[in-house]
This record gives sequence, structure tokens and C-alpha cells, in this order.
Amino acid sequence: MDKQQEYVLRSVEERDIRFIRLWFTDVLGILKSVAIAPAELENAFSEGIGFDGSAIEGLTRVSESDMLAKPDPSSFQILPWRGSSHGVARMFCDIATPDDEPALSDPRQVLKRNLDRASELGFTFYTHPEIEFYLFEKPEPGMLPKPVDQAGYFDNVPRGTAHNFRREAITMLESMGISVEFSHHEAGPGQNEIDLRYADALTMADNIMTFRAVIKEVALEQGVFASFMPKPLVNGPGSGMHTHMSLFEGDRNAFYEAGADHQLSPVARQFIAGLLKYAPEISAITNQYVNSYKRLWGGAEAPSYVAWGSNNRSALVRVPVHKPGKGQSTRIEYRALDSAANPYLAFSVLLSAGLKGIEEELELPEGAEDDVWELSPAERKAMGYQALPASLSQAIDLMEGSELVAEALGERVFDFVLRNKRAEWEAYRAQVTPYELEQYLPVL
Ligand code: GLN
Ligand code: MG
Ligand code: MG
Ligand code: MG
Repeated sequence: MDKQQEYVLRSVEERDIRFIRLWFTDVLGILKSVAIAPAELENAFSEGIGFDGSAIEGLTRVSESDMLAKPDPSSFQILPWRGSSHGVARMFCDIATPDDEPALSDPRQVLKRNLDRASELGFTFYTHPEIEFYLFEKPEPGMLPKPVDQAGYFDNVPRGTAHNFRREAITMLESMGISVEFSHHEAGPGQNEIDLRYADALTMADNIMTFRAVIKEVALEQGVFASFMPKPLVNGPGSGMHTHMSLFEGDRNAFYEAGADHQLSPVARQFIAGLLKYAPEISAITNQYVNSYKRLWGGAEAPSYVAWGSNNRSALVRVPVHKPGKGQSTRIEYRALDSAANPYLAFSVLLSAGLKGIEEELELPEGAEDDVWELSPAERKAMGYQALPASLSQAIDLMEGSELVAEALGERVFDFVLRNKRAEWEAYRAQVTPYELEQYLPVL
């Protein structure tokens, strides 16, 4: 047993932990959990805990259903919402096959493989997300989502639900070792944003999964309902997960070059160019639901066109302005990602797209100064701003032909996502919606 595993065993004993939840994520990014007793821990570390993988979305084919969950001791944390006596802790797991091979379909290991590829090139990939979500009143069957307040961007609502909510949620996140940089009310009624402090992409993907669980728990505790749905309100903005990214070589930020345009190094420019080139074909991963495209094409500061800019909130990739000399914080912000993405897979395709840009030595086009939405279609064409997919159906078609996505996800996950998303699109297409009945029935 190694030092970290020993530390976990000791903590469980000293902190009176009665259950250890083993967490992992299915291919769609839904958190799965199995609880074990402390007596099982040693075995979990050495052998893994067996479970039936065929019941988990995308994890196995039925013919090979037995799987093992092997906890990662470095992710051990006590769950603060379960109280301090007879406590509950969690660890993230890697999934293995019965003969102890890494499962090809485990999103966490998909990301690890991509991070290994980056590290062979000498890079560490850091990310930080700005996570937006809505707080609604507890839903009753048949009820439309009802925001908990009518406040807007940066509003301070004295004694408001959102205020207490954010304080409670952030306290919990911090107690689990997840640092929060920034939090505020967002533009939509009941909409909030919490920004996490940057970390390496694997830690961050784990943190995002924890974040979602914490937000849901705190909402329940406070008698409200939290949702990460990309576009829950017809007339409100969607919930994005803008993600800031940088590559480091050792402790040097490889995106920074003093005195260069926007202080961006050639590596950063090629990385952005890669993101722009591959944005349409990675969309089915960064924006994976039917509903995601209602956000992307629903205005309100979500990007619809492929362009980059510095202080331009209509751009897909934005380069945040930072003080000269603060080279370590040079980074780029990808704005298409939504709050319902699987962070392991989304980070995998973003990193791959950026690295491809470096490998292909892509030229970065001129940045966009204009509001890309305000341009006419002819102007956008002239300036070479292609559109992001308009629907999940278009996104799947583009992904199907993408070598980049196939390589980043591996064949198993690639095939599963395509099949799953086609089924989602077909189920959606078969619906006759209240909107259609209202529009057509009276007049046709
Ligand atoms: N809600 C917007 C989105 O969906 C972002 C708004 C903002 O943070 N400027 O991307
Ligand atoms: Mg923000
Ligand atoms: Mg925001
Ligand atoms: Mg942003």
C-alpha cells in the first residue's frame, strides 16, 4: 500500500467515516456512486470493487459487463453535507476490466490519455471554468421552471436566496479543497455563476463533477432546485461553462510572450487556430444535448460563429486582457462549452484541437473586433467566420467525419456517443411540441 492509500485509511479511522463513496462518470457525464464500508477499503485499493458495467451508459457492451472501480486516493475528500459524525467521504475511481486493463470507455481515462499525450510534448494543461446555472423553485409536475428571483447581472439581492445559496455552496466547495475565485448573480432571473480557480485539467474535471453534486445538494437543503440545463428558459440566457485554458512547460506559461500581440506566444496562436478550425466538429462533445443548440443560437452572449477576439463577447475564443508582466495568467477562453458537458471528454477534445493547431502550425487569422452577430451573412462570409452547428443533428454529422474526435475519444467512446446522440435526436425529432400545436393547429 502506498503513502496516499495509508493516509486515506488513517483519515477514515480518525474522522469516524462510515461510508466511502466511489465516484465515476458515465460517458454522458452523469455522476455514478457506489458506497463501500471502511473494511472494504484495502481491497478496493488492491483489487478494485466489482460492479455490473452494462447498466451504466456507454461503459461496456453487455458481453463484457463486469468492471472494476479502483479508487484514486489523491481524490479522497469528506462530503461536508453529510455531517461530521458517522461521516461520508468520496474518491474518484478509474474503471478497469476484470483483467485489470484500463477501461477504454471510462471518460476519466480518456482525459488521462490525452493529458499524457500533451505531457509527451512537454505540456501541462490547465483549465478554469466559469460555471453558470439556474436556481428554480422546487418543481411540481407540469410546472414551467420558475426562477427564485428576478435579479440580473451582478445584482446584489439583500437577503436573497441566491446570496445565501452562493455563500453556503462556496463554503462547502472550499472545505473540499475546491477554490472559488469569483461568484455573482448572472444575467438571467435566478441565474448564478461561480468561477473555480485554475487547476490541471484532470483535477478540474473532477472538481466540476463535485461542483455539480455540491450545488444540487445545497439547493435541496435550501428548498430550491438547481439546474445546469443549457437553455431552460425560452426568454432567458443559457447557462454556459466558459473555460479558460493554458499550457505550461514546467513552471513557464507557454502561451505568454512579452511584447507580442496580446502577449500571445506562437504556441498560443496556433492553439487558438486549432480550436477555431476544429470547433464545429467537436461541438457534439462540448455541446452534447438537443437543448445545447438553443443556447448557442439563443443570443444572450453565447457564441454562434467561429471567431476570436480580445474584448469581444460575441467571439468563440476570447483572450482576456491582463496586466503586462502578469505572464503566468496568460490564457484563452473558450465560450461555446455549456454547463451540461462531460468535462472529461470536453477537455479531451479541446486539448486535442489546440495541440493539432500546434502540430499543423496553423496560422491564426485576424482577430474579430466587430460584434459578429451584427454582421450580415455576406459580411461574415467575406471575413471567413464559419457558423457553429445549428442543431445536434448537424453536430453529429460533423463529428462522424472527424478524425480528431475519433482519435481523442478512442473508438469505443466515439461510437457510443454517436449512437447515443443519434437516438436522442431521433426521439426529439419525433415530438410534436406545444409550440407547433399553438402555431399550426388553429390555422392549418
Ligand atoms: N450566459 C452566457 C452563455 O451562455 C454568458 C454570459 C456571460 O458570462 N457573459 O454563454
Ligand atoms: Mg464570467
Ligand atoms: Mg457568465
Ligand atoms: Mg466568460
